[in-house]
Amino acid sequence: MSTTHPLGLRRAVGLADYTTWKVGGPAQWFAEPERAEEFTQLLLWAQAEGLVSRVIGAGSNLLVSDHGLEGLTLCNRRLQGAQLDAGSGVIEAQAGEPIPTLARRAARAGLSGLEWAVGIPGTVGGAAVMNAGAQGGCTAEVLESITVLDPQDPGRRLTLSAAELDFDYRHSRLQLEPLVVLSARFRLSAGHDPATVSQRTSANLHSRTSSQPYQQPSCGSVFRNPEPQKAGQLIEGLGLKGLSLGGAQVSPIHANFIVNTGQALASDIDQLIAQVQQQVLSAHAIALHTEVKRLGRFEEIALAA
Ligand SMILES: Cc1cc2nc3c(=O)[nH]c(=O)nc-3n(C[C@H](O)[C@H](O)[C@H](O)COP(=O)(O)OP(=O)(O)OC[C@H]3O[C@@H](n4cnc5c(N)ncnc54)[C@H](O)[C@@H]3O)c2cc1C
Repeated sequence: MSTTHPLGLRRAVGLADYTTWKVGGPAQWFAEPERAEEFTQLLLWAQAEGLVSRVIGAGSNLLVSDHGLEGLTLCNRRLQGAQLDAGSGVIEAQAGEPIPTLARRAARAGLSGLEWAVGIPGTVGGAAVMNAGAQGGCTAEVLESITVLDPQDPGRRLTLSAAELDFDYRHSRLQLEPLVVLSARFRLSAGHDPATVSQRTSANLHSRTSSQPYQQPSCGSVFRNPEPQKAGQLIEGLGLKGLSLGGAQVSPIHANFIVNTGQALASDIDQLIAQVQQQVLSAHAIALHTEVKRLGRFEEIALAA
């Protein structure tokens, strides 16, 4: 007899396999739907069961608690696919489409505007939520609209324009409201030479992989830059590169990255984040805020000025 749940639901799924830091305890309930309609059904199921629900992407900006997550966790990674129109520059992409794949495809179609995205190991959904950006570009500059579901009313799809998303530096309204992104529509600049756009895209990837620790599990930059200062420069200036706690280490290659050297717990990473924040606060009176999103239960760590 098969024990597969009709909605593809699984119990107690370890989330370390679903985050780029490779840490995190089990999701009480977990599913990776392949179609938008399945998101609706799963959210209705969670609502009927009285469970809280959330969606993650590639887990490349997430610190998931070692205690795991209550309720239903949906991962958008299998909701893939994208249509590109080389004439108009319009791209319709599903939320789980990897943003580096989209950047490569856009370049090959002679569409310019996503060259910066090639080194960001996240999904379209995560990029919209985070307003992901790099090398002078960001999601807000090319995104026209998104289609979302409201977990309170999962039967109804809504379209939100970029203007309604309150985009700012690594910020969008989606970080404050638990809407589920199903797809996004981008408009890029059309009619460019595909070889030139592809070359720019590859050069961007090369400049990142040669200056950032891409070989070790991480979540990219941990801290938001306290403009006009750079978090990495402040941390490096205090000699904190290489600082370790359990299996977590401030990368010796890039000070705004914390890497998992093999056996890190989420709590190691969380405490190392607090140590770095404390040292920057004490030395410069600057409060570093995390770009990375915590999910689940963490100990309160008080910082002293
Ligand atoms: C090596 C490395 C380099 C990186 N470099 C950069 C960089 O240069 N610039 C940059 O901006 N980021 C960078 N990041 C961070 C990360 O890749 C981005 O923030 C990315 O946009 C996160 O996408 P994701 O799909 O992994 O989202 P996740 O990390 O899974 O989720 C991020 C947030 O979005 C929410 N979310 C995800 N999908 C959905 C959805 N479909 N509906 C509703 N909510 C959703 C989650 O709940 C969470 O709050 C880097 C990460 C790594 C590991």
